Amino acid sequence: RAKMCAEVGGETVELNGTDVEAPLGDEIARRRNLAIISHPDAGKTTLTEKLLLYGGAIQQAGSVRARRAGHKLARSDWMKMEQERGISITSTVLTFNYEDHHINILDTPGHQDFSEDTYRTLSAADNVVMLVDAAKGLEPQTRKLFEVCQMRELPTLTFINKMDRPAMNPFELCDEIEQQFDLETVPAVWPIGDGENFKGVLKRSERVVYLFEKNQKGKTATTKKVPMDDPELLSLIGQNLYDQLFEDVEILDEMGHTLDTEKLLKGDQTVVYFGSAMTNFGVQIFLDDFLDLGRAPAERSSSIGTIDPTRDEFSGFVFKLQANMDPRHRDRLAFIRIVSGRYERGMKVLHSRLGARQINLNQAQKLFADDRESVQVAFPGDIVGLNNPGLFSIGDTIYSGSEKVVFPGIPSFSPEMFAYLRNPNPSNYKNFKKGLQQLLEEGAVQLLRTKEDQGNEGPILAAVGQLQFDVVQQRLRDEYGVESKLELLGYSVARWVLGPGDPWSALESCGRLFNVFFAKDRWNRPVLLFKNAWNLAKLEEEHGDKLELKPWA
Ligand code: GDP
Repeated sequence: RAKMCAEVGGETVELNGTDVEAPLGDEIARRRNLAIISHPDAGKTTLTEKLLLYGGAIQQAGSVRARRAGHKLARSDWMKMEQERGISITSTVLTFNYEDHHINILDTPGHQDFSEDTYRTLSAADNVVMLVDAAKGLEPQTRKLFEVCQMRELPTLTFINKMDRPAMNPFELCDEIEQQFDLETVPAVWPIGDGENFKGVLKRSERVVYLFEKNQKGKTATTKKVPMDDPELLSLIGQNLYDQLFEDVEILDEMGHTLDTEKLLKGDQTVVYFGSAMTNFGVQIFLDDFLDLGRAPAERSSSIGTIDPTRDEFSGFVFKLQANMDPRHRDRLAFIRIVSGRYERGMKVLHSRLGARQINLNQAQKLFADDRESVQVAFPGDIVGLNNPGLFSIGDTIYSGSEKVVFPGIPSFSPEMFAYLRNPNPSNYKNFKKGLQQLLEEGAVQLLRTKEDQGNEGPILAAVGQLQFDVVQQRLRDEYGVESKLELLGYSVARWVLGPGDPWSALESCGRLFNVFFAKDRWNRPVLLFKNAWNLAKLEEEHGDKLELKPWA
């Protein structure tokens, strides 16, 4: 078996598992990628860390957190920012091999300082893991992210975490998912007790109870398995929980949904796991199932029809851009999701947006833990980071072969925060403008302007999270040497007016509008900003028939 090699710090090392000469289909079949969506604090970092441990990808639990906290990475501005805020801005993909599978975890920034990157990353994912805090149930950020998953019909597995803490009733948790997300739930495991009384889970397909036994130091749980019909079970979990378990299982068996892989793959059904990431309980059951149930890198629609991953010609699209991760290099990276074919270092590809211009991909990089490895070979489902000397924008397609391929663009997301960006130092006008222009092209933030030229108001930045503003200001300072002032506007909802007919005339036909801020986007289309959903509802009630409104354009 020819081994895939990578250069790490100038040395060539073998990467386990990837066979350079293997048929494309084999490499695709063993690949799984996933994005974890959750509300901050649900335990995403903890779960990620535990998953990586199974692959031996990190030596020690704690490394992901250490990386996030910036201990090892304090060397760059970005990382300083990560450290200050305890968030992950730079990491994009974490890769590990487990049971002959090659797993890519696409990292979605998980902080209330949400950014568009979080959404965009989902466009590169084939599977989603929805992580839910058992005590809190569904929370706002999970809802927002799930909306995007549903739009993309992504298969979703659900991991209900922190069962070692007092939890909501498991039926109630499933019910919430069913009602709010319109998703059928199929519990693969069922919890026995919670908090101090958490005894473990029943694996329903095996009818075996995995006991949760906290060891002395209280950190990791060891797992002992007892068949459900073993008389010993009663004494192990006690009469009350024993009775409860049998009663619950009867209800589930009789009234619950059964697994329907077609529904799962279309995102109409979710398989549910209960566990405790912190004590590494229930994680392996989940991981093993994920390899079976999760989707291998999927086909995508394109300008020339559906592109199958096994298509020989290479194709991929840019879903994320990032700059200056390492100040020693002052580099820019474009992250590409490979859709079909085989990526080889140094290959020549064509760039759809630039009129099929040929470019040489000689310096792909893949981010792994703390180190950057330059990638020799990569396959559909993989993410590679390419040096980006201004060539790539979000949504760009690259491909090989004679037939031009364009993947549909990545949608913009409706901004929820708005601020004037001012330049306090007019002599820096040129750099200010240039820097802002560059950041807009990269998709760091969206730009609106006030409707009429109202003198010196300056551009309005529009974002889904505060983090995007911070990044813009920091980069203007570090890369373009300009200070900027941000003045938040008190609006939280945006609606593009797209018609009917000429949108400006449509707006005029409504007469005077109240409690609305008029802005326009870069293409001069009207955008209405509202303080809250209530004001929007009011406008829709009065003028809904005269206006075609969309949350984004
Ligand atoms: P993130 O914000 O989603 O990445 O959450 P973290 O992984 O940082 O976890 C947030 C907090 O919850 C940390 O203090 C974790 O130690 C704790 N935590 C995570 N998983 C569990 C769990 O299964 N049980 C308990 N009791 N605490 C957990």
